[in-house]
Amino acid sequence: MNSMYFTEEHEAFRQSFKDFLQKEVVPHIDKWEKDGTVERFIWKKFGEMGYFGLNQPEEYGGLGLDLFYTVIFLEELQKVNSGGFAANMWAHAYLAMTHLNKEGDDRIKREYLTPSIEGDKIGCLCITEPFGGSDVAGMRTTAVKKGDKYVINGSKTFITNGVYSDYLVVAAKTNLEDKHKGMSIFIMDRNTPGISSTKLDKLGWRASDTAEIAFDNVEIPAENLMGEEGMGFPYIMQHFALERLVMGINAHARAEYAVDYVLGYMKEREAFGRSLDKFQALRHKVAEMASRVDMCREYNYSIAKRLNDGNYVVKEASMSKLLSTKMADEVIYEALQLLGGYGYMEEYPMARLLRDSRLGPIGGGTSEILKEIIAKMVIDKKEYKPAT
Ligand SMILES: Cc1cc2nc3c(=O)[nH]c(=O)nc-3n(C[C@H](O)[C@H](O)[C@H](O)COP(=O)(O)OP(=O)(O)OC[C@H]3O[C@@H](n4cnc5c(N)ncnc54)[C@H](O)[C@@H]3O)c2cc1C
Repeated sequence: MNSMYFTEEHEAFRQSFKDFLQKEVVPHIDKWEKDGTVERFIWKKFGEMGYFGLNQPEEYGGLGLDLFYTVIFLEELQKVNSGGFAANMWAHAYLAMTHLNKEGDDRIKREYLTPSIEGDKIGCLCITEPFGGSDVAGMRTTAVKKGDKYVINGSKTFITNGVYSDYLVVAAKTNLEDKHKGMSIFIMDRNTPGISSTKLDKLGWRASDTAEIAFDNVEIPAENLMGEEGMGFPYIMQHFALERLVMGINAHARAEYAVDYVLGYMKEREAFGRSLDKFQALRHKVAEMASRVDMCREYNYSIAKRLNDGNYVVKEASMSKLLSTKMADEVIYEALQLLGGYGYMEEYPMARLLRDSRLGPIGGGTSEILKEIIAKMVIDKKEYKPAT
């Protein structure tokens, strides 16, 4: 326990969440990985336990807890070793629901946020488009106001929970002339005519439902605009700080899982008459892996603390994701090597972990884009400010 950040209450929560995952989730993971989707009942169970409402306002059914409960939620989800299952859960709770909470009005919160907390409605966040994801402001999906409605046309891709979510939080252009100020955020029900989804096949995150989504003259009520028209880009950028920190925390947690697993394996496995953990070359490798995990974890905790205290940590969260996801890929690659041939086998955890980890430097802002952003802040002294 790191008592600088975690109290006894936090640790009690960690233990009960771990127990819950072992009992309710782990027995189903192999099936969900094979089926490419998770069953609906688990969403309801998460909702009943309050896990989707950790950081949400009590007024709408949340628990209003500090960010370190979220840190624990993310870490323990990673340790189940299904990046896809974890992604379903955190994309709902920390991508879609963050927009509902920050930009939704009271009606939207009652209609979507409360059922999301209770596990009755599942959400997805639709930003990336087939024509390009990194250039967020260059998106082509349009929302044209006609009377008391908006008409949406366009397409999105790689959307987590994109097939079976009940509602979609969608970014679209309301003014094509203005690249940055012409974007807005909308909420729409899945069953609105004109929305169609196609499931995508992928390298990892196999238990996660990832989709391409088309909008063909989708008519939604004008009051489904979230926040102010034209403020979509700053809202997205603002929430990227949390999203990137989430991905940084996920990365240190899965790397930590890899190191822990390898320690147990090396103790048991023998070569040339002694256990693997007695070979100096391997001991040094593990020492370096463990050190790198520790460095990232402690950095991520300190940024979580600053975010929790209300600071705008866009630079630090970008750095966290950049280096933690790189570290995780490298540590997991080495961990697989330490298992020899068993590392390559599906019955052992490293094969899936390696596949799932590879998304870290791609999703939610690629490493190249993060370097661009960090370079602007470090070299050009550009200052990003929160949306007002
Ligand atoms: C499994 C999965 C789940 C996802 N979930 C979601 C989701 O729920 N919602 C959502 O909106 N999106 C989601 N994404 C999309 C993800 O955020 C994008 O894939 C990512 O932002 C990159 O966009 P792109 O794939 O269009 O790559 P591109 O933008 O086409 O980039 C291609 C390559 O060029 C590089 N590049 C681009 N521009 C520059 C530049 N200026 N300088 C240097 N290099 C550059 C990129 O780093 C990358 O290596 C998901 C993706 C995956 C794979």
